[in-house]
Amino acid sequence: MASLRDQLGGLVYSTEQGKTCPSCRESIDDCCCEDTSEQARIANLDGIVRIRRETSGRKGKGVTTISGIPLPNAELKTLAKTLKKRCGTGGAVKDGIIEIQGDHRETLQQALTSLGYQVKLAGG
Ligand SMILES: [Zn+2]
Repeated sequence: MASLRDQLGGLVYSTEQGKTCPSCRESIDDCCCEDTSEQARIANLDGIVRIRRETSGRKGKGVTTISGIPLPNAELKTLAKTLKKRCGTGGAVKDGIIEIQGDHRETLQQALTSLGYQVKLAGG
């Protein structure tokens, strides 16, 4: 039978260490799981940034997603901010993918191309 600690699976407290990471059991300060997964994500990219419009299960115009940008999360967020401003809309960053509300494929393609990325429009 699994211990309560294993069942919880999320962040757990230990009186000695404070918060510990559920993956590596290191304290959060020593943990580098996030960095490692970030590096793995970036290493797996093929250098092509893909822009895709997604409407399924979403209201109205849907969103434009940008995947494959070889940047760590902090810089992705900064880039997302710039792109949202450029499109005059909202958006978010999820799992290394930038989501921009509405259909802004052309604007985003131009913006990213001017930043030096190799950009491909994917899907419909
Ligand atoms: Zn960890």
